[in-house]
Amino acid sequence: MPDCSEYYQTEISEGRNKRVIKCKFCSSVILTPSSASFTRLEVRKYICLNLIIFHVTMYEPVIIIYKLPHIRQTKGSESDPETEDIIHFWAVEDMMTFYNVGFSNTVGNTKYLTCADCEAGPIGYHDIPSKMSYVALSRVLHSNSTEKN
Ligand SMILES: [Zn+2]
Repeated sequence: MPDCSEYYQTEISEGRNKRVIKCKFCSSVILTPSSASFTRLEVRKYICLNLIIFHVTMYEPVIIIYKLPHIRQTKGSESDPETEDIIHFWAVEDMMTFYNVGFSNTVGNTKYLTCADCEAGPIGYHDIPSKMSYVALSRVLHSNSTEKN
């Protein structure tokens, strides 16, 4: 699996977002600097492999990556959208931290996050049980100014 976290190093300061996070389509501010923490989402699960021939039990790590449907500028109602594996997220503990964000579909225990201004999304997801929100770094703009450009 390619590790592209280095690409984002310049956006991270003490584990948090250095710059303003904006919508890629309408430049609306989504998060202000230092309001989200960088998360490399990698849930490791161990599956048990019983190798009967050798009479040994091995544990094989399996990495689970969040599959987010492709971004679109209009609200989609596809039942089976194409997804993309995303591992780098800005984690936000409190929904009130967001400047500008909306919800679209609820899928299982998660709600997709969209830009509240232009409805582009999903830019990430909200995990209902933990109340944590995750914004995909690849789906937002990192900017020095809060001005619309
Ligand atoms: Zn927008």
